[in-house]
Amino acid sequence: MEREVIFKRCLALRCPQCGEGRLFQSYSKLQEECPVCELRYRREPGAMTGAMYLSAVITEILAAMLCAALFLLTDWSVKTGLMVGVPVVAAFALLSYPRTVALWVAIEYWTDLKNGAPWAKPR
Ligand SMILES: [Zn+2]
Repeated sequence: MEREVIFKRCLALRCPQCGEGRLFQSYSKLQEECPVCELRYRREPGAMTGAMYLSAVITEILAAMLCAALFLLTDWSVKTGLMVGVPVVAAFALLSYPRTVALWVAIEYWTDLKNGAPWAKPR
């Protein structure tokens, strides 16, 4: 299975293995396993730590870019910059969280396939 297919399926919030089962049972709660092909999304405690780091890195990159843009492109005070920037970064973090978790599921599944893990059976 091609890496592109795995990542496309996950970014559409679908199972990386079958492409049919939903990844999430609610907005940000990942299912334990795929309801269609039974691929376990959470195989071990702490498996989603990588997703938290990925989300933090992506959000911090956005925050740094926003700080630079506000500093370079506006003559706003620090207070005004914070009043605009903090809600934007917080909203981005909330809105992007499901996609970063899905991206982490794709990375794990793709590496499992590369390593020949017995539970990864492409369909
Ligand atoms: Zn599935």
